[in-house]
Amino acid sequence: MAEFGSFIAGEWTTAAEYRENINPSDRSDVIGRFALAGPADLDRAVEAARGAFATWSGTSPAHRADLLERVASRILADVEALAELLAREEGKTRAEARGEVIRAAHIFRFFAGEALRLTGEQQASVRPGVTVTVHREPLGVIGVITPWNFPIAIPAWKCAPALAYGNTVVLKPAALVPASAHALARIIEDSGFPPGVFNLVTGSGSVIGGALAAHEGIDAITFTGSEEVGIGIAREGAAALRPVQLELGGKNALIVADDADLDIAVSCAIDGAFFATGQRCTASSRIIVMEAIHDRFTAAFRERALALRVGHALQEGTEIGPVVDEAQLRSDVAYIEGAKDTPGAVVHGGELLELSTRGNFLRPAVVEGLDATAPLNREEVFGPVAGVLRADDYDHAVHLANDTPYGLVAGICTTSLARAADFQRRSDTGMVMVNLPTAGVDPHVPFGGRKRSSHGPKEQGTHAREFFTQLKTAYVRP
Ligand code: NAP
Ligand code: MG
Repeated sequence: MAEFGSFIAGEWTTAAEYRENINPSDRSDVIGRFALAGPADLDRAVEAARGAFATWSGTSPAHRADLLERVASRILADVEALAELLAREEGKTRAEARGEVIRAAHIFRFFAGEALRLTGEQQASVRPGVTVTVHREPLGVIGVITPWNFPIAIPAWKCAPALAYGNTVVLKPAALVPASAHALARIIEDSGFPPGVFNLVTGSGSVIGGALAAHEGIDAITFTGSEEVGIGIAREGAAALRPVQLELGGKNALIVADDADLDIAVSCAIDGAFFATGQRCTASSRIIVMEAIHDRFTAAFRERALALRVGHALQEGTEIGPVVDEAQLRSDVAYIEGAKDTPGAVVHGGELLELSTRGNFLRPAVVEGLDATAPLNREEVFGPVAGVLRADDYDHAVHLANDTPYGLVAGICTTSLARAADFQRRSDTGMVMVNLPTAGVDPHVPFGGRKRSSHGPKEQGTHAREFFTQLKTAYVRP
């Protein structure tokens, strides 16, 4: 069985312990054994990143752009193999994985350009003859901690801007999906980055994730994952007075207005709720349907949901891959069972499926008649489970959409321009979609939410500089 180490100071290292990376479509398929790094490995990675910072931050933006562009090209040259690896370790379908890999390449390409577009400001001073310039400088060493559901795109959208603006990086990917991060690290190595600029440390969140968040040698930390872990990271950051960026959970609403185009509404709800097995922070997990269209919409939605082909992620024709691991599967099933035990609620689908390979296969579940305050409609399930809520009228629908501690994204399906504009204004979320699934965003514009979904500056697009650079105001009297 192949063993894969961490990448520290330009060297691939071995570890005392390894963890098996298991294919959720076929639990007999072990992708490899990946290093469980310890605190000493993490110390060396941070030290390497610190050591590399002075030189890297002093390189020309054109040089950094060239290297990032090379990463983008190498990802694109290897899309099929990277997509297969990703689908194999995470369980999204080959087509979904291909989309994610291409997106990672586009992110590197975008930030190659951004390296050259880092503008400042110049202003006259209130004092005669003095000029004031405002510069952006890198922060130093960035700790990056990523979740399992986008094994290459999330590392890309954190590491690419960090590197573009002259920071150095220590990446700790999720323990369930180290192979894609490993492949990305190989590409970064082959693209000619100096040793120590980018370091990959694989292992357990509680051991090295916590140690990275608390490390005195980092200057900022960017994290995507669960709320509970994120709060701990924010605490460490506050104690050290260090910038922290968190992207956390969601409980995203899709409103189906009574004037919606039924086909568009059903497609948006199916995609948003179930594609990528519902394991997206932007998934539509609450489908809020106005009374006049409720029965027509739910019948069509249910029919499409139950017809979705669940199967091995790499099998031709599969529309919905497996749940990422058995722990997540148990959690999804517990929400479904809880709904079944609730009087008045009806669950369609949601059965475990036995297919030709031993995988974590769950038929998508549509849950109707459950109160808005029930756990399934309140908490992030992070699986192929959608709660359908009935709204008396449009204002009630908007109220339900906003009545959540989260605020990542919301959507509305409507043919009314007035309603679309009104909902864009009233949705208390970082992102809002009209006649589009809540999931599926562009890589060159800000990504992030409000309330308990996000903390700190937004990610991606030009706005990524708000987190990955710091301002300096310089006064000059010639
Ligand atoms: P998670 O359990 O919080 O893990 C995220 C990362 O943190 C992993 O690398 C994990 O390592 C690490 N970690 C665990 N415990 C830690 C600790 N005590 N200190 C530091 N790091 C620690 O989340 P997940 O289960 O991977 O991902 C699902 C969550 O991510 C969902 O809540 C989802 O909404 C959220 N998410 C949000 C966005 C967004 O942009 N808003 C995007 C995608 C996902 P291990 O893998 O070793 O546990
Ligand atoms: Mg986890």
